[in-house]
Amino acid sequence: MSDELFLKIVNREIPADIVFQDDRVTAFRDINPQAPTHILIIPNKLIPSVNEVSEEDEAVLGHLLVVARNIARQEGIAESGYRLLINCGDHGGQEVYHLHMHLFGGRPLGRMIERV
Ligand code: 5GP
Repeated sequence: MSDELFLKIVNREIPADIVFQDDRVTAFRDINPQAPTHILIIPNKLIPSVNEVSEEDEAVLGHLLVVARNIARQEGIAESGYRLLINCGDHGGQEVYHLHMHLFGGRPLGRMIERV
């Protein structure tokens, strides 16, 4: 999938259900939700994956967590609980190479990864 896809969402060049945006991050509902709440929180600047993260990115990456906390409250799932997930690379199951944090909630989410 194109690296530019999520940049187009940030710049509002393609439609998305944006639930929060500021000068550093954008959060929008996943097009193929895996849970009643499934939101992607991304830096506005393109960092392809965790492998490309640098020290300069520490502030924006910390901000992703603050925004995740706020959105969990907005969605009414802060008390019931939720999961934050960042996939990296092929074995991590990453499909879009613009670093993104998934926020899942609204139902019990089960084990973290499948037993093999
Ligand atoms: P990954 O597997 O890379 O961690 O997750 C990529 C996520 O992006 C998937 O859950 C997928 O459903 C979502 N996604 C892919 N294309 C679009 C899109 O055009 N719009 C939105 N809102 N989500 C997308």
